[in-house]
Amino acid sequence: MLIERVEVRLLELPLVEPFAAAHGTTRSREIAVVRVDSDHGHGWGECSALPEPTYTDELAAGAFVFLHEELAPRLVGHQLTAASIGDQLSVVEGHPMARAALEMAVLDIELRAEQTSLARFLGAGVDDLPAGAAVGLGPIGEVAERAAALAEDGFGRLKVKIAPGHDVEVVEAVLGRVAGTEVQVDGNGAYDARHLDRLTDLAASGIGAIEQPFSPADVEPAARLVERCSIPVVADEAAVSAAAVAHLRSRSALSGVSIKAARLGGILAARDLHDRCVEWGLAVTAGGMVESGLGRHALAALAALPGFTIAGDVSPAGRWLAADPWPDLAMDGGRITVPTAAGVAPDPDPAVLDHHTTERTEILP
Ligand code: MG
Repeated sequence: MLIERVEVRLLELPLVEPFAAAHGTTRSREIAVVRVDSDHGHGWGECSALPEPTYTDELAAGAFVFLHEELAPRLVGHQLTAASIGDQLSVVEGHPMARAALEMAVLDIELRAEQTSLARFLGAGVDDLPAGAAVGLGPIGEVAERAAALAEDGFGRLKVKIAPGHDVEVVEAVLGRVAGTEVQVDGNGAYDARHLDRLTDLAASGIGAIEQPFSPADVEPAARLVERCSIPVVADEAAVSAAAVAHLRSRSALSGVSIKAARLGGILAARDLHDRCVEWGLAVTAGGMVESGLGRHALAALAALPGFTIAGDVSPAGRWLAADPWPDLAMDGGRITVPTAAGVAPDPDPAVLDHHTTERTEILP
């Protein structure tokens, strides 16, 4: 298709409840999105980069600039497909989440033109998924309370954030409140080799998976934990590419992988990594990035692939967004319906989109 125009927007979507972080309190989710127009129609893509570079080195406002100054001008006026965008942008380094937004938009165009859903295109094996939610750090009583409320709302899998000094007791309290719900933990790299015994005990406490306890560079302790426990030890922050996963596998330093399409540069790379993990016998889970309904549609389609045997972060965006230009995922009886409409997601509501747009730019030939 001929790329005729790219529109890049920076949105500020209000949060259901304020989010307290080190720098202060945030009341909105800043997010960059793109609309690509071509001779085959238009499509939308979302850049998952967070408002601050706290999880990866990309951030929403930076992605907005990078998209309109560096990436989009290299696409406009060219004949491209979703599969050829990677090559077209290969002269530019880094910024996988910004690239992923453009790939999503072009894939959206292709799928709409072919009247195919993303789930069908990827090879989804199921029509619905268990809904999963994450529970952040906090005082034990509050964490257990939040977990209990989510379980009551139907979330069948909870991922509890842990940190040294905030783990075994927290998980015990949560497990005591959410019988029948799968509980996983996520250390976000906060542990080191000194905590190996404690993490081994935690892994045997009735949880379903332990995600990224050690920093990505700490390969040796991860390998020892894999050897010691029977539940999946999932690489998340360390799973930046298929090559990184292959390296960890060669060192027996993981038994599961959290696949985040945005971090890999797009949905196509995510599907490829999924396929390789299946070949390698690694369990896979789908990771979310606090996206809008657009990103959530893509996540649900990806998570429906057969290798995703560890229940992932698939929940409606309405859990955190008080306003969203995109339709949300449907959740019923603790299950998320895998979207079946042609394309990645339906179009956004133009009025809601405009209302929450803080910056907008378009790139023409
Ligand atoms: Mg994680």
